[in-house]
Amino acid sequence: MKILLINPATAKDRLEIPGKYKGSSAFRYPKLGTLAIAGVTPSRHELQITDETVEIIDFDQKYDIVGISAVTALACRAYELAREFKRRGAHTVIGGCHATFMPEEAIERFDTVICGPGEKLWLEFLNDFERDPASSKKIYRSEKYDSGLLNAVSFPSRSVEGHKGYAAGHVFSVMRGCSKSCDFCSINAFFQKRLYKRPIPEACGELKNLKNKIINLVDDNIYSDPGYAAEFFSAVKSHKKHWLFQASTDIVHDRRLLKLIADAGGKGVFVGFESISSENLVNVNKSHNSVNKFKKVIEAFHDFGIVVEAGMMFGFDGDDASIFERSYHFFNKINLDLMQIATLTPMPGTAYYNKMKAAGRITSDNWDDFDCKKVVFKPLKMTADELRQGTGWLRKEFYSYKSILKRGLCNFSSLGPIGTLGYFLRGNLGFRKNHSLGLDYPP
Ligand code: SF4
Repeated sequence: MKILLINPATAKDRLEIPGKYKGSSAFRYPKLGTLAIAGVTPSRHELQITDETVEIIDFDQKYDIVGISAVTALACRAYELAREFKRRGAHTVIGGCHATFMPEEAIERFDTVICGPGEKLWLEFLNDFERDPASSKKIYRSEKYDSGLLNAVSFPSRSVEGHKGYAAGHVFSVMRGCSKSCDFCSINAFFQKRLYKRPIPEACGELKNLKNKIINLVDDNIYSDPGYAAEFFSAVKSHKKHWLFQASTDIVHDRRLLKLIADAGGKGVFVGFESISSENLVNVNKSHNSVNKFKKVIEAFHDFGIVVEAGMMFGFDGDDASIFERSYHFFNKINLDLMQIATLTPMPGTAYYNKMKAAGRITSDNWDDFDCKKVVFKPLKMTADELRQGTGWLRKEFYSYKSILKRGLCNFSSLGPIGTLGYFLRGNLGFRKNHSLGLDYPP
């Protein structure tokens, strides 16, 4: 069968002219979920992957199956694509967060919906469809927790990673899910607070085939299982890679683990700080973050030469219009390296969305608006306009040359030339460029 897998993109981020990639390549990686689905697809099928940030879809090719993975902000684009490919005779399949949380909506637009972690369900669907298209189910769902979900699965396909539109580096995964329970988090809702871990020898077996120096570990919180994380980073040290990873703030209490990560080549971490208001953090069930320790969190990573990117959200119930300026001074003073500046967005499927919906505070049902830049709810202590303008102001100020230079000079002695030029500067200039072009990703 001929199969096309698509990663859709928003209208702003979508490639329009072949080869003319939008924004900084620092953030353009292929989506590992699609590579994983491609990896388990039997080789007897002819498979193509199209990522709309680096390629334009060729609608004139004939496909038996078109599979699309989409988060909420891309759901409308996914539905548009499904309409077009159905018209051309393909069987359409959707997976990913949005369809998992809204299967009834998705099944009205797609022939098949895959809910939850996809690899095994995709294979089940393919087998059914190959035997008899009419026998394939409308919805495939994993009914029970399968702790061995990631055991002996085929490695993700690496066929598209050399594409010149992408950043140099490999996306990689060893653990899915998160041990924490933040109310706004889709990851937590998607994996239902369960952890799926790969056997470490299998992960190392995959790693030894990867040529590029940079490995982007896309797992949401490596500190979900500290013992596993320690074992993993000890095992990969000999591969001499540079690791980008994600962790919760409490990882810094474990200096032994930080040292193992640094010795293995840890260079950059994404940490969800979310807010400089303790009240906000408690309200969204993120009390493992202590605002008065944020400075220490950054210093602990810097002690090991690791660049820190903070995930921040604005528009919480405790935020008034002064939050942007206060956050700017707070993080500029403690020399945060990078900041992702998102508008708080209650995502369907999360406890936070349900709460806001029940309170009548969701103001948009257009999924295009759920891009973490627009405002889709009624903020409590400021207007939607103030929220929009405030995040815009903060992006401009934090990524002004003056602020980048100040933070870069202060952090140089900790990060060294590789950390400063390769990760701090590239990241700062990347954010600055994408914001100035008005792209949607990253916020
Ligand atoms: S720590 Fe991060 S990944 Fe884990 S539940 Fe909270 S926001 Fe989600």
